[in-house]
Amino acid sequence: MKDSFGRNIDYLRISVTDRCNLRCVYCMPEEGVEPISHCDILSYEEIMRLVGIFASLGIKNIRLTGGEPLVRKGIENLIADIKKTPGIETVSITTNGTLIPEKFEALKNTGLDAVNISLDTINPERFKEITRREGFEKVIEAIKLCEGSGIKTKINCVAMKGVNDDELASIAGLAQDLNIAVRFIEYMPVGKNDFEKCVPKEDILKLIANVYGPLYKLDAKFGNGPAEYYKPEGFVGVVGMISAMTCSFCESCNRVRLTAEGFLKLCLQYDKGVSLRNIIRAGATDEEIAKAIEKAVAEKPKQHIFNDYFGAEDIEESPMSRIGG
Ligand code: SAM
Ligand code: SF4
Repeated sequence: MKDSFGRNIDYLRISVTDRCNLRCVYCMPEEGVEPISHCDILSYEEIMRLVGIFASLGIKNIRLTGGEPLVRKGIENLIADIKKTPGIETVSITTNGTLIPEKFEALKNTGLDAVNISLDTINPERFKEITRREGFEKVIEAIKLCEGSGIKTKINCVAMKGVNDDELASIAGLAQDLNIAVRFIEYMPVGKNDFEKCVPKEDILKLIANVYGPLYKLDAKFGNGPAEYYKPEGFVGVVGMISAMTCSFCESCNRVRLTAEGFLKLCLQYDKGVSLRNIIRAGATDEEIAKAIEKAVAEKPKQHIFNDYFGAEDIEESPMSRIGG
């Protein structure tokens, strides 16, 4: 499926829930967000119907996210069913990792290809401050379990000034002995005006090079996303940078997003899109749904503009937990 700028859209991120068992300071307020009622969230049957239609339009790779995808009951069955859909090549999840240890066997049997685990600190006390919850040991266990089982494992760390910028090199060090990718995400002011929190990619690279020596940029891609990868000398794994704030990778954007409420979102930063849930529930045929998807994708914005955020139109104001990251 091509958009109007000729970009090939083959990657769909599906948020399966807006609920979460953590309360990360940059993502959710302490008291949580007003939960979307169950009947407004896409059922697994509706998700599977849409996955079939998206696959027929050329979507090959699917990532499940949230909220926290592993808090939704029966998620293992959904992963296994998506994995069996003709045309779908990879299924992955983005998770905070806390529930992986208890669900590990079931997850392994789904055929899951890859797991991104979010971890912003390796200091247990700081973990509690950032996530406002317990669970640090479970996340570390999750990383080791996934890595040891051959599931492609990445860590997502949001780099934030005054929060964790003093330990970014130590976090990168997790890839020294483990075959994982530790990726640093520039903090994005989604729905907020706190740009100053962002640690630019170049600063993160310097902090890591100061401890581990020169970093070699790799040409290889390790997934469907816009991350750039580097290998410090002697590392088993790699270090990645996702720099939505200081670099534009929009010209090669290959993705669209489906929110838990079934809204097809065309760009992380904009609220433009179409409610596929309303179309399905109005009794549309598969052909009509496919047409609605193609029409929306044709309107995918050219690029995001986080650095010129205020004053721009149609800006997304929902918290990241609603959008799925
Ligand atoms: N609960 C899962 C998790 O934490 O991985 C999936 C949902 S979470 C919204 C997806 C990703 O978005 C996480 O890696 C999280 O760190 C990232 N994220 C959330 N808010 C962000 C922000 N303001 N800037 C950059 N990344 C953010
Ligand atoms: Fe939950 Fe993920 Fe948001 Fe943290 S980043 S509050 S784990 S949805």
